[in-house]
Amino acid sequence: MPREITVVDGRLSVPDDPVIPFVEGDGVGPELWAAASPTLEKAARETGRNIAFKKIVAGAEAFKDKGTHLPGETLDAMRKFRASIKGPLATPVGGGIRSLNVAIRQALNLYACVRPISHVPGAPSPVLRPDLLDVVVFRENTEDVYAGIEYASGTPEARGLIEYLNAVLGNEINPKSAIGVKPMSETASKRLVRAALNLAVKKKLPSVTLVHKGNIMKYTEGAFRAWGYEVAREEFGDLTVPESEASEADAKGAGRIVIKDRIADNMFMQTLLRPAEYSVLAMPNLNGDYLSDALAAQIGGLGMAPGANLGDNVAVFEATHGTAPKYAGKDIANPTSLILSGAMMLDWLGWEDAGDMVRNAVKKTLAEGIATNDLARQTTTLKAVGTRAFGERVLKNLS
Ligand code: NAD
Repeated sequence: MPREITVVDGRLSVPDDPVIPFVEGDGVGPELWAAASPTLEKAARETGRNIAFKKIVAGAEAFKDKGTHLPGETLDAMRKFRASIKGPLATPVGGGIRSLNVAIRQALNLYACVRPISHVPGAPSPVLRPDLLDVVVFRENTEDVYAGIEYASGTPEARGLIEYLNAVLGNEINPKSAIGVKPMSETASKRLVRAALNLAVKKKLPSVTLVHKGNIMKYTEGAFRAWGYEVAREEFGDLTVPESEASEADAKGAGRIVIKDRIADNMFMQTLLRPAEYSVLAMPNLNGDYLSDALAAQIGGLGMAPGANLGDNVAVFEATHGTAPKYAGKDIANPTSLILSGAMMLDWLGWEDAGDMVRNAVKKTLAEGIATNDLARQTTTLKAVGTRAFGERVLKNLS
């Protein structure tokens, strides 16, 4: 009988046979799940465990069955079983339902979106040295313009807010504007940077870079930078050093963790020109959304980029990409990002041996010259196979 992951004295207690809910998702989600899940199950078995995957629904499937895109019982299961894994969920642009992904992150307080980005040898890349990029993006998940506080042009809410901003605070906003709010708090900013620092300490990584737009948005993004330095100084004092005070040994990765900060636009350039100088990147929500897709391009595209949304002792693992609607049902999409998100989940359970097995199986498959079309079409060396065949090959290469 499979058991639940629990929390004992504030720490995760993971049985060898945990129940793990999964959401197949919209678009390419179901076929990616079918290709990815056998590898995750086998990696667990080969390392002496057993995952009992339990289907839960969200998105179009939930709407069809239950009349809502995000049933309460889905959120309850994600909360109760602690670790879950999901495929992409569709969100219409400019109206309709709000993002289900954002809703899940906010409801479960999954405050850190974590996206490791490194190149798998054999995968195509638009840059000459993709091997120099090895970063982990920590994106704040609960605040910023993603908090969903925005009002359409001409509504009483927008008009009222603008009236206040103009009459009381002396602004000159066009009264017919739409308006959005960008909240950023010390608590949320610090817990995100703290999570980034904890990873750097655990994995002995050389630096944590705060990525912000504090030159323009001084009291939101500028404060994020200041709070980031503060949490490093106050809670990781002996282990960290600001870049301006770093010794040669620190800068070479042989000393303390160097805390850097970069303005977001510069950071986009830095990751192309000097990728080797960066390791952990911590940033507010919108910067993180943009930068993680741009970085994914360097390692072959969104089909290669895994992700996790982490809270305190609760986590939802998901690929970085969306529903790729043009590929849905065609056996074309790349399941690698979901497979690697699953490997992150195995690590989070404390099963790094199983996580490594999965990552090695992906590496071996690409080394054999086998890939899905999104990668193969960028090269003359890779042979394109379908989603299912790629998943089967990774499964076979698991050892
Ligand atoms: P997308 O990620 O679905 O697609 C962007 C591009 O990457 C497309 O060309 C697509 O074909 C390609 N692509 C994505 N995943 C791929 C894969 N696994 N294999 C091969 N190619 C892949 O982004 P979009 O088109 O901007 O959004 C489509 C829908 O997905 C929207 O409704 C959006 O809201 C949603 N979305 C969901 C999530 C999530 O669930 N976390 C994330 C991003 C977008």
